[in-house]
Amino acid sequence: DVKNPNKHHKHHRLHALLIPYPFQGHVNPFVHLAIKLASQGITVTFVNTHYNHHQINSGDIFAGVRSESGLDIRYATVSDGLPLGFDRSLNHDQYQSALLHVFSAHVEELVESLVGEGVNVMIADTFFVWPSVVARKFGLVCVSFWTEAALVFSLYYHMDLLRIHGHFGAQETRRDLIDYIPGVEAINPKDTASYLQETDISSVVHQIIFKAFEDVKKVDFVLCNTIHQFESKTIHALNSKIPFYAIGPIIPFNLKTGSSVTTSLWSESDCTQWLNTKPAGSVLYISFGSYAHVTKKDLVEIAHGISLSRVNFVWVVRPDIVSSDETNPLPAGFESEAGDRGIVIPWCCQMTVLSHPSIGGFLTHCGWNSILESIWCEVPLLCFPLLTDQVTNRKLVVDDWKIGMNLCEDRGFVGRDEVKMSIGRLMRGESREGVRGAIGRVKMSLEGALKCRGSSGENLGLFVDGLVAKVG
Ligand code: UDP
Repeated sequence: DVKNPNKHHKHHRLHALLIPYPFQGHVNPFVHLAIKLASQGITVTFVNTHYNHHQINSGDIFAGVRSESGLDIRYATVSDGLPLGFDRSLNHDQYQSALLHVFSAHVEELVESLVGEGVNVMIADTFFVWPSVVARKFGLVCVSFWTEAALVFSLYYHMDLLRIHGHFGAQETRRDLIDYIPGVEAINPKDTASYLQETDISSVVHQIIFKAFEDVKKVDFVLCNTIHQFESKTIHALNSKIPFYAIGPIIPFNLKTGSSVTTSLWSESDCTQWLNTKPAGSVLYISFGSYAHVTKKDLVEIAHGISLSRVNFVWVVRPDIVSSDETNPLPAGFESEAGDRGIVIPWCCQMTVLSHPSIGGFLTHCGWNSILESIWCEVPLLCFPLLTDQVTNRKLVVDDWKIGMNLCEDRGFVGRDEVKMSIGRLMRGESREGVRGAIGRVKMSLEGALKCRGSSGENLGLFVDGLVAKVG
């Protein structure tokens, strides 16, 4: 109950430090986790990097929530180890490398300065390699927050099993089904996270994953942005190894409360007025999230496919969408040819767009937050996974839950005619009704999980009880 935090005074001795991985898809759920925990009467100190603080450009991002709801959410910033002017979006490797090697020293300094304020719990992103070490050093209860699906967590957690069986880490990896991960139904290797499919495993990201999944074995609790009903067997199996709590969906579903928190790292274009002019369910929303790059060749084919489909569209084309300095990677004349049928914007408040009645489909890279948000708004998905967990999320969306379709059947090839046809199928094809029915049912599961006696509510309660018991 955001409006009445004082109902939950019993936990007033808990003070949790929340440290997200400083990427948009991690900051967003961490911000809403902060609000959720503070609503339970827990004091929260949210840590943003200097760079993200500067990008969000609104000072203390919780000022509005604090004054509206009286929640005890404090705000701190820390260096990510790179100069403010460094271009993080075009230099992913250096950014990840700083987070791997330099960030923990800055975090330690910050934690040291905050323990005097009664901090007794640290909730850090699972992708960090240091949480258990830093928490132990300062005597904090250590909680890991996994912002993706439990299935993806389980695959990484059992990386050693994949190696032993020859599905990962060899020059020639096996291609038959992986059928030995506890709680995970037989899965095709091509549906595992992209990093688990690569043969060169010496990248910075691989080092991060290896170390992070060693560290997470030593934490006290894991929180996961999923719901029990989605992944019950996987969660059950993980629970026999580590206290693992599904507390999702953590998304800004309450736009009224969420509107007072700005989390976007880029300034948002408002397209509500334009959307207001379009018939219900007629607009395709297109976004590939905050991080992944698309090749120029694929982007151009997708643009032609969109033009050929003749649907209305809102397309978020980030300035760094192709990994080069190119200012406009779209085909010449694309926007003028679209006329009033479509708009191209650099960034938006995605939840506001998805919840607009004119939106009828979402062409997505399958980021986990985007999927949860689209389910919440009951918008059918057209899937174009690019890397990391997106590949596995596609399987959940298309093969398991049947709430979306593939953009292209052969993942290696994007062609404009196929793009045109799949957009047509999603927006006005016969199979659309089946997908819409399925997404309505999945949305009901999300709502059910959040109810007072729902699985996520119960799990959150158990987690908080566990914290209280540990802190003593
Ligand atoms: N997002 C947004 N505006 C945009 C595109 C994305 O607000 O124009 C938000 C979106 O709502 C989601 C997050 O950015 O919460 C992206 O997270 P996701 O897990 O979908 O993908 P990632 O960026 O991590 O690849």
